[in-house]
Amino acid sequence: MSGAVGARRSTPADVTGTTPDPAGGGSATLPPPIASGLYGCCPRCGARTLFRSVTAFADRCPACGLRFSDFNVGDGPVVFLTLGIGALVTILALWLEFSVSPPFWVHLLLWPPVTLAMVMGALRVAKGLLLALEYRNRAHEGRIAKD
Ligand SMILES: [Zn+2]
Repeated sequence: MSGAVGARRSTPADVTGTTPDPAGGGSATLPPPIASGLYGCCPRCGARTLFRSVTAFADRCPACGLRFSDFNVGDGPVVFLTLGIGALVTILALWLEFSVSPPFWVHLLLWPPVTLAMVMGALRVAKGLLLALEYRNRAHEGRIAKD
């Protein structure tokens, strides 16, 4: 019964303020995981504190104290991004060559920065999304329980 009263008091201030940990079962008030990828939002409080550079995570969230260094997204997204973006850039280069036939130096100047920008942008989104999903699903390495 007290839960119904608590649910009625849910206001926008509650959403942006202290949000319950996933352990408490209150995941409905967490920011969407894609926000962590697109905007670098902290998966717990929603502040834009996830990244300290383009693709590197900050150590912790200064707003709520969540330690991002405890999460390990690993190299999972890199393989798929490399293969996908490599195929996409190859298709775009072939399309440009067969439709416009520019001099070869145009390819040399155009595709390296385009590839780098696509990889950096996609890597940031993928890393943020994976960290948010790890946080939301409480995924982590196995630990030995202490009695
Ligand atoms: Zn936070």
